[in-house]
Amino acid sequence: MGHRGIKIDSSILFLGTGTGAAITGKGIRSSGGIILRFMGNQFHIDPGIGAITKAAEFGVNLRENTAVLVSHTHLNHSNDTNAVIDAMTYSGLDKKGVLIANKTSLQGTEDYDNVISKYHRNLLERFIAVDRGQRIGINEVEIQTITARHNEPNSLGFKFFTPDFTLTYTGDTVYAVDIVEQYMNSNILILNVPNIKKSGHNLCTEDAIKIIQKVNPRLAIITHFGYEMIRSDPLYIVREIQKQTGIQTLAAKDGMAINPISYSASAGQKTLQGFKKSVDASPKEGT
Ligand SMILES: [Zn+2]
Repeated sequence: MGHRGIKIDSSILFLGTGTGAAITGKGIRSSGGIILRFMGNQFHIDPGIGAITKAAEFGVNLRENTAVLVSHTHLNHSNDTNAVIDAMTYSGLDKKGVLIANKTSLQGTEDYDNVISKYHRNLLERFIAVDRGQRIGINEVEIQTITARHNEPNSLGFKFFTPDFTLTYTGDTVYAVDIVEQYMNSNILILNVPNIKKSGHNLCTEDAIKIIQKVNPRLAIITHFGYEMIRSDPLYIVREIQKQTGIQTLAAKDGMAINPISYSASAGQKTLQGFKKSVDASPKEGT
């Protein structure tokens, strides 16, 4: 289907902004992922629980997905991937689209099964198991996979380089100096911050403040909220983050959409240099 000629406005749309049994498991917020639309491409990042239903609710046509990206296998990031592939390809009648998934999602590990079924892999034009530090070209967008340090051993973040802006999605990770280094030169920074206080394998408010200060993006967005965060109201948390960093910061909500072009800056890094060879995964013409 030739969607590339059709102009879709640039947007970042949050299908889901929750995590954990106490939030997503109770249907308080979805974890259906993020839709990034740019120059006729539609990227679906982390299609976890609720991706299908929230796409319908917020008017997203999953048939328009250019690529689906899975950062790691945890339910709130990957659960609906097979269903999204099914919707995107119209149950395989229209073999199309690219899946970019971390190694665990496609190969499994000792502790984790792979989560993308063989049947659904074969509905795609292409699927790629990516490791950290790879670059993939899709049409006019370059995607760099970055390290996320988390309790799923191959967890990733993604950095999108477009002609107009650079956007980083941290994925699920703890704070570390070398992790934050990867986010530099982002115009827009999306952070998964489930926790208010330091705990486990994820970011907390204090980490987010340190990261936002260091990276200095035009816009920071926090998302992927756990129970304590929702109970305290993320709006109060971002107010505190803004006060401490002086950087515009939003708390994502299911259905929130913003235009990334408003936050592009000439200062942003627009092309990648010195990384491993880029894999061109652009869909073929007419697919
Ligand atoms: Zn996780």
